[in-house]
Amino acid sequence: MNEARNTKHDLRPPNRIPRMPAPRPRDDEKQFDAALRPTKFTEFVGQKQVVDNLKIFLKAARDRGEPVDHVLLSGQPGLGKTTLAALVAHEMGAPLVTTAGPALERAGDLAGLLTRLDPGSILFVDEIHRLPAVVEEYLYSAMEDRFINIVLDSGPHARTMKLDVPPFTLVGATTREGLLSDPFRARFGVLLRLEPYPDGDLVAILERSAGLLAIALDPAGAGCIARRSQGTPRLANRYLRRVRDFAQVEGSGAVTAKVAEAALERLGIDSLGLVPVQRQILEVLSKHGGGPLGLKTIGAYAGEEEITLEEVYEPFLIRLGFLKRTPRGRVATEEAFRHLGIAKREQNLF
Ligand code: ADP
Repeated sequence: MNEARNTKHDLRPPNRIPRMPAPRPRDDEKQFDAALRPTKFTEFVGQKQVVDNLKIFLKAARDRGEPVDHVLLSGQPGLGKTTLAALVAHEMGAPLVTTAGPALERAGDLAGLLTRLDPGSILFVDEIHRLPAVVEEYLYSAMEDRFINIVLDSGPHARTMKLDVPPFTLVGATTREGLLSDPFRARFGVLLRLEPYPDGDLVAILERSAGLLAIALDPAGAGCIARRSQGTPRLANRYLRRVRDFAQVEGSGAVTAKVAEAALERLGIDSLGLVPVQRQILEVLSKHGGGPLGLKTIGAYAGEEEITLEEVYEPFLIRLGFLKRTPRGRVATEEAFRHLGIAKREQNLF
């Protein structure tokens, strides 16, 4: 099975990307995320089409008394994939079991997890594009026919053992849907893509969070934070928490537009919401005549892993039209340099 993967006929990306942990929120932020996480669909702001469709699939499955079809959630970090997985479990009245692609190293890890599930469970696999290929293939039969064949021993003594898996729903989350193999993607009945949120939705999220955290947030303050949050609820909530500190120590405690603007500025978040690393990416490109430049070089300059650049920092730059991915490397656009107020310099000046 593994050998086939290494032939030239295998068009899948070469075992995807390194299975190092993805850039995830720090522990204190995880707790903070959890405290603000919507627990009902009515608290989940925006993404109307995704939510409406999901509710129909959940209701239909509930009415039939069956587990809902396997769900694949894709979208950038912090857009609400984990939150939706928990809402699926809540709506189905089903236990939620959470793991992540890199945590399932061997087929045995998966077998242990699947065979211990309570019937009807929701198995949430975050960063599912980082599942090792061999584990992914074991999942196929579990998803389709509720069994897995485990190979015991090797060589002439190799035997397979068939293990039954209780009915379950796999909810996978990925920031890189394009890295999933076609056969894997085809096994998900429900494919949902989360998009960045418009400012109005982020304002609503911030107002809810401010209520939960007892923060005095005025509408202009919420607007200011929303505009600089790159369309991402996790960033909006993170900035609210930071701005609150400034408001408390240096202001009256209330988060006004003035306080928010000054605080975000001091945190290095500019008027469009670019953070220092994003500006460094554009800076190094400007020093190389606008690019193209390889991700490795950019990573060395910005002091970030390539994978973090790709998953966390580049998507917003691409969305703004500031950065292009080309076969020869990254290229920054004139708009990017205009925003930064810098000119692209000739390559030999670097
Ligand atoms: P992901 O799994 O996509 O990285 P999460 O589900 O962990 O994102 O969401 C990050 C934080 O953003 C959560 O704590 C939650 O409070 C907030 N959040 C995300 N989406 C929404 C939403 N639609 N409405 C309200 N809060 C949201």
